[in-house]
Amino acid sequence: MELDREECLNVLDVLGVELPRETKLPLDVLQKRVGKALGCTQSALKSKKIDPSKLKKWRSSPGKSLMDATKTINMMEATRNQGDRSPPTLFVDPFTDLRQSVMSFGMNCESGMSIAVIEDPSENYSFTIRVVDVYEITEGVPLFVLLYEHGPGSARSRKTASDFMDSQNTMGFKIKCNVLEQKLWLILLQSNAKLIEDSFSVNKRRTESKHKLSFFVPPDPLGFHDIGTLTNDAGCIICGGVTRSRCAQCQSVSYCGKDCQSAHWKAHKPMCKSLVGGTWIPVTFSLQTDLAPYVLNLNKYTTQSDLKNAAANLKAGLPSTSEVTVPNIHGDRAFIAKIQASLPWSTAEPSISIYDRRRSFTVIVRRGVDRAAFDAMFEICRKEGYMGSKIYRWTKRTGDKTFSVCLDRTPKEDEIKW
Ligand SMILES: [Zn+2]
Ligand SMILES: [Zn+2]
Repeated sequence: MELDREECLNVLDVLGVELPRETKLPLDVLQKRVGKALGCTQSALKSKKIDPSKLKKWRSSPGKSLMDATKTINMMEATRNQGDRSPPTLFVDPFTDLRQSVMSFGMNCESGMSIAVIEDPSENYSFTIRVVDVYEITEGVPLFVLLYEHGPGSARSRKTASDFMDSQNTMGFKIKCNVLEQKLWLILLQSNAKLIEDSFSVNKRRTESKHKLSFFVPPDPLGFHDIGTLTNDAGCIICGGVTRSRCAQCQSVSYCGKDCQSAHWKAHKPMCKSLVGGTWIPVTFSLQTDLAPYVLNLNKYTTQSDLKNAAANLKAGLPSTSEVTVPNIHGDRAFIAKIQASLPWSTAEPSISIYDRRRSFTVIVRRGVDRAAFDAMFEICRKEGYMGSKIYRWTKRTGDKTFSVCLDRTPKEDEIKW
């Protein structure tokens, strides 16, 4: 029941962690990365060990339902759902599936059901789960303590499971969930089990001898800081190993050696060709929040916990974000940025804003801070830019407040992928 390479890459991809398809990172490294990513999605878990008996029990009240508390979405999903209220299609994105199942737990536990059977349509594997108690780990975030058992075949075909189901006098609910999603459940429950304090235990029923104790909290979509940590491999772009050389033509990618370099060539070639011979100039940028500290800078990956933090900061009279750095999801690798100068007919003080496709990197360059870079970019925007304003260029992060840009090379149309 382990994730294979394709599944690891698929899960990481839907979480926003994009690795090169040609990656040679060993399978166990990829699996660990998925485990770490799923750990990060449970952003409410702050301490290393959890003792549920020290938490207060969840109590729903008007305006605070378990169902709502299991809905964790980011801005992208919030806006996507505005027009279309139908649930997402199953079995396309395993992480969305997982969160849908978590919502089923919220809805059913609220109405008093505590037994769940999770199985795939072909009944290859299944879970039996009894939710023992629901606690509140932080304000408004539930923590479901449960006993689970997982195995091949339908839940009813397993002796333990059918005994278990028959012996329960409570009503149960069933969740359809493909094998890939079940693998994610297993990773989540197995790693959470290790976080429970040894002193904590629950009373097992007679039929639950094979059941294991674990818990979950509703997983949030990953924010850019987590995506950055999970994406950046300091080493060779293909295998993660110690780097010994750079691509001699463009100087923009590092490898451990010839084998990895040739494995990456097909994917790297277009970028390399458009960068060869280009000049990189250093730029110092400012954060948008430097100028307007009380403005909340939203983008489509902004998560609910980001919003909560910002709201709490503003309420306390603090800037909306205490972030002093822009998340770095690109590491030291080149990426395409849109460079947008204020429009020629604008009467405001000229400015330049810069962002990447996913808007993980959104900064401004001010003339007063970096005159040389500002003038160089501004001139090209006016000369070559769409409406005298917008151009695309390859850029690289070089520090917390700096990046470099290759201004004299234009990325080709099919590289831009905006
Ligand atoms: Zn390598
Ligand atoms: Zn190259």
